[in-house]
Amino acid sequence: MNRIAIVTGAARGIGAATALRLAKDGHAVAVLDLDEAACADTVTAITEAGGRAIAVGANVADGAAVEAAVARVTEELGAPTILINNAGIIRDNMLFKMTEDDWDAVLGVHLRGAFLMSRAVQKHQVEAGWGRIVNLSSTSALGNRGQANYSAAKAGMQGFTKTLAIELGRYGVTANSIAPGFIVSDMTRATAERLGVTFEDFVGHMVSEIPVARAGKPEDIANAAAFFCSEEAGFVSGQVLYVAGGPKA
Ligand code: NDP
Repeated sequence: MNRIAIVTGAARGIGAATALRLAKDGHAVAVLDLDEAACADTVTAITEAGGRAIAVGANVADGAAVEAAVARVTEELGAPTILINNAGIIRDNMLFKMTEDDWDAVLGVHLRGAFLMSRAVQKHQVEAGWGRIVNLSSTSALGNRGQANYSAAKAGMQGFTKTLAIELGRYGVTANSIAPGFIVSDMTRATAERLGVTFEDFVGHMVSEIPVARAGKPEDIANAAAFFCSEEAGFVSGQVLYVAGGPKA
């Protein structure tokens, strides 16, 4: 079945890889990010591979922008029934240095963003009697030094996911969460910078603690998302899948 998918934060990193993978699986994809122009590379990669995609600029934390974006996707591609809540930011700091803005910005993009996007898309999913929602959590949900805001948001994503699964299941909609471990992306490059180490040293240190002995790639997460979005995964809902090269609890 070909569906219409929205992937947030899809200009780069995990979102871009997931948008490409969903397009390869035959879905039309709205590549949504803060800056519409920044989505061009992902859209071009999809269309050059024979897929269908549009670029959509929207801040997922802004209710009016979210409503307008989903309306545009519906008009230009069709009613969206797959949603990947991937957009994310970090504003890391130790608790005593963390500002209210750091807290609000992170909770705003991850939690408020996922809430607004899911609320806007669920009406199309319920109408269709079918839907898939995948929310990006993180191993940081288990606690991580310097990330009080981010770990709270990512733990929140897990509770949010489970509630969506309970509320929307009867309409053929599943909701699942992926909690990535260390994935090479601009976000982890920024973390290395904050810690004052080279990215190579940072990767080396992280890999030394990963059982499969390599860093994660955005495609590792895209593969898991593709499974949750498949027809075959219809009985899998409310789950949190740690994709971290080893066990997490
Ligand atoms: P990146 O920073 O590479 O990409 C995130 C994208 O989200 C950027 O294009 C960014 O746009 C966009 N974005 C940020 N804020 C908003 C907003 N308000 N509205 C719309 N788009 C926005 O991150 P990753 O690919 O590494 O991460 C993707 C997701 O996976 C995030 O939710 C992250 O927390 C999670 N994750 C990542 C891990 C990793 O190791 N990389 C580990 C665990 C979880 P812009 O560039 O304009 O800011």
